[in-house]
Amino acid sequence: MHHVSDVAERFGTAAHHIGGRAVEGSGGATGTHFVVDPASGQAVWTYRTAGPADVDAAVAAARAALPEWAAASPGERSQALHRLAGVLDGMAEDLARAETAQCGKPIRLSREFDVPGTVDNTAFFAGAARQLQGVAAAEYSPDHTSYIRREPVGVVGSIAPWNYPLQMAAWKILPAVAAGNTIVLKPSELTPLTSLMFAQAATEAGLPDGVVNIVTGTGPDAGEHLVAHPDVAMTSFTGSTAVGRRIAALAAGGVKRVHLELGGKAPFVVFDDADLEAAVHGAVAASLINGGQDCTAATRAYVQRPLYDAFVAGVADLMRDVRLGDPSDPDTDLGPLITHAHRDRVAAVVERARGYATVVTGGAAPGGELAAGAYYFPTLLAGAPQHSEAVQQEIFGPVLAVLPFDGDDEGLALAGDTPYGLAASAWTRDVYRAGLASRTLAAGCVWINDHIPIVSEMPHGGAKASGYGKDMSLYSFEEYTQVKHVMSDNTAVARKDWHRTVFTDRSHR
Ligand code: NAD
Repeated sequence: MHHVSDVAERFGTAAHHIGGRAVEGSGGATGTHFVVDPASGQAVWTYRTAGPADVDAAVAAARAALPEWAAASPGERSQALHRLAGVLDGMAEDLARAETAQCGKPIRLSREFDVPGTVDNTAFFAGAARQLQGVAAAEYSPDHTSYIRREPVGVVGSIAPWNYPLQMAAWKILPAVAAGNTIVLKPSELTPLTSLMFAQAATEAGLPDGVVNIVTGTGPDAGEHLVAHPDVAMTSFTGSTAVGRRIAALAAGGVKRVHLELGGKAPFVVFDDADLEAAVHGAVAASLINGGQDCTAATRAYVQRPLYDAFVAGVADLMRDVRLGDPSDPDTDLGPLITHAHRDRVAAVVERARGYATVVTGGAAPGGELAAGAYYFPTLLAGAPQHSEAVQQEIFGPVLAVLPFDGDDEGLALAGDTPYGLAASAWTRDVYRAGLASRTLAAGCVWINDHIPIVSEMPHGGAKASGYGKDMSLYSFEEYTQVKHVMSDNTAVARKDWHRTVFTDRSHR
């Protein structure tokens, strides 16, 4: 069960990409760190982490690259990103294997979702680079011509989580560089490999040195220094709500633009006219994707009373069929969770839930040949009260809670009753119920009769404690630009009429 990916070897011990080159870290306060294969618990790569000095070097490289990259035409930036999409596509299998090796996610998911999604995102932002949008230039005052410039914000400092390392790197880097910014990205210290490969690909595609930089270190050591750095103009963060709060507070000191993609606790609302088979299959897929370590994963199913028992039975049956195993095996449905410590946290929530809910299936870690990995069985909890831990707090594991409801309004109210607002879904064949759900649910995304799919053209981002700011789509591209209004006098008159509102021109008396 030990699957060391040879892709780790390509980096030696250089865990950082600064100024177009792979470089060693100084170690910072952490020294060395490991990438661990969670399927075996074995370290697959040891590297020296980044500390403040490495962050300083990366920010300096990004700052040096900024004037030329910002001055490149949209067409030139677009061409560079089109080349990048080609390079990434050419290394798709390597990327998929590296992602699976460091995260433990099933290779099918890496091959069919993470990697093609990243290539598509790159192609999308290659196009978006040429879409600078704004109000049309015009004489909104008869004496002036006004127009909008969209300029880069400057050096962007981004911080990403471990659950979709490649896609998160892409979601942060692409809109930033498409808009003419340069970037320093800190991936999670657990999963740096594919972010480093992405940066190498950018260099190979001809993006100038210093446009894309990667520093790999821990949050308190490298992350906080990056956020607070005086030469970083904007912080874009994806991760937990607790760390997001800390980052917003740090960024406030420098009055920096902040973009926060935080935790979620997505509801999955099944009305009594829903296609039960679709809802059952949808719930299992949407709660177990990436081992449930997905900020938009279905975590709370609210099922209208007439369908409740059949839904619980159907989901439990399907969950029992899910094949846990070696993540590099294309037949595996569910790999290990990211670390043993995280698996133990998930298990502890379920153990506490035994005091207030029924564990319909799962609720244990497998033994046998999977015992060495950070595995946990798909778990269905029934009857947990709305205000219990399992229903209110992000578990980030393969655990779905199911609760019944009666009236439509009650179901939607329960669905809205957590601090989070990232994503939600409603299952119904009634167009009016679907409309009501899409208007009522406070979330960045509402799916109707599906849950999880994303597209590069549409935004991803939260409401409430799930944060603010959008990834993907032209909305995210706009967030990485500064809107400047230029207002130009057309009269060439020295003594303008409006000056009377401030002082009287005595020379005319
Ligand atoms: P995390 O918040 O622990 O860490 C995220 C990143 O922040 C890591 O790179 C980490 O090193 C860094 N970090 C930690 N402490 C820091 C500090 N004090 N200052 C600066 N950086 C710091 O989250 P995680 O465990 O890596 O990821 C899981 C979380 O991410 C979940 O809450 C999940 O919902 C969320 N997430 C959200 C989205 C979204 O789009 N909304 C997407 C994926 C994951």
